Amino acid sequence: MKFGGTSVGMTTGLSQVLSIVLYEHERWGNLILVVSALEGVTDALIEAAHLAQLNNQRGYRRIVATLRTRHLALIEHLPLGSTEKSALQADLDRLLFDMLDVCRSVTEQHDETVKPEIADKIVQVGERLAARIVAALLRQNNLRGVAIDATDLIITDNAYGNAVPDLGLTRERIAANLTPLLKRGIIPVVTGYIGSSITGTPTTLGRGGSDYTASILAASADAQEVWVWTDVDGLMTTDPRESDDARVIPSLSYEETAELAYFGARILHPRMIAPLRERSIPLRVRNVYKPQQSGTLVREKAASMQPAIRAVTAIQGLGMSTMSSSPVAKIAELVDERLFKVSGSQALMICSQSSAQSFVAFVIPTTAGPDALHSLLITVNESPITSNWNSRAVSVVTAIGSRFDEIHRLTSEVLLMLEGIPILALAQGPSGCSLSVVVETQYGETAASRIHNVILKR
Ligand code: ADP
Ligand code: ASP
Ligand code: MG
Repeated sequence: MKFGGTSVGMTTGLSQVLSIVLYEHERWGNLILVVSALEGVTDALIEAAHLAQLNNQRGYRRIVATLRTRHLALIEHLPLGSTEKSALQADLDRLLFDMLDVCRSVTEQHDETVKPEIADKIVQVGERLAARIVAALLRQNNLRGVAIDATDLIITDNAYGNAVPDLGLTRERIAANLTPLLKRGIIPVVTGYIGSSITGTPTTLGRGGSDYTASILAASADAQEVWVWTDVDGLMTTDPRESDDARVIPSLSYEETAELAYFGARILHPRMIAPLRERSIPLRVRNVYKPQQSGTLVREKAASMQPAIRAVTAIQGLGMSTMSSSPVAKIAELVDERLFKVSGSQALMICSQSSAQSFVAFVIPTTAGPDALHSLLITVNESPITSNWNSRAVSVVTAIGSRFDEIHRLTSEVLLMLEGIPILALAQGPSGCSLSVVVETQYGETAASRIHNVILKR
């Protein structure tokens, strides 16, 4: 079971976590928990790393002080005994102190940007703190919770910031370090999002990576199911923060879910589906505040699943155009270098070319973090390679469903709804589960809401 930052960030969420674990542990026997940092903590830690690189000591110290106060207040408000409380406070101070040391070393290095390797050392603190708090809460309630740092379990390559796990080595580590705990009736509370390279340096799995941690652990420990607990009712027809009429999708196939996550639904990490699909492990996405509801079940495609448009996503992209049919390879290399240099995520491009013009849109994955588009635009605009290219933010709006490759009625329903909106490029995903259109950012919302209307009318 994975509990996101939205679940562990407040006492109300944590008391839900506790009652869910009490109930489900009784039913299932063995549970592995994965927790991410409290909501907003990873963003704050990244900001601290940037301030350290700018030599702004007051700035990063202020962030650390705020984080300390926030975690202390949470610990204070939890129904914990005094021994648990003081142990947690000591852990908090030690972890933040070590992190301040890393920030201090950054100020001494005078690098132009924060090295991803250093950023990973800084951000891992958020997950370590959250895991310790949840484990203490379980212990206080007669469950044998133990906080485990995933640096001892998940072994990755050294693509800092977006690392790729080595599933073979990870499986060995899990057999050695996690399975024995389960056998002793312990509930491991594992830090999401982080891992370590073979040489032991901390790495991270890309933003939103705790979901991926859950699926890596599930696949490596032969789990029966994975449950992602979050702050919404399940996977929905559109982002419920953007649209009040979003509806829960009761069941989806692995392929559809992978596309949903890939094309921008922040709720799941895009790479988390593959390990589950390979081992046919079902995934449930449920609301931590409404455990009586069943949420969404993700599993293999069933014959009973009718071809239909099930969801719509909108994500930022970088659109580049030029008044010549020039090859896009150099541009792709440039963007690849900056945004996708880590082997774990290949640049997704949607291209269209004609005799006199070329257009290419790069989809910015959610794992790249919220600032990715901005820093990419700066890099691209500063490069001599792009001197005759025009770059701007665009929206990539994607209809998710099944069999777009065969049931052309689905494609025509989408396109009819977009009447009047200029489409810069159009692509059907090779899985047959997605149809993406690239539009000017100003049309993104309208395009998504019109496609959503098709889904609601079904
Ligand atoms: P957590 O802290 O639980 O990992 P996230 O913020 O990463 O939570 O993901 C949950 C959020 O994902 C929801 O609050 C919702 O706004 C957003 N979201 C985007 N698209 C969708 C979708 N199609 N279905 C459900 N939630 C979505
Ligand atoms: N805390 C990490 C992030 O904010 C990982 C996660 O939320 O899953 O990206
Ligand atoms: Mg998340």
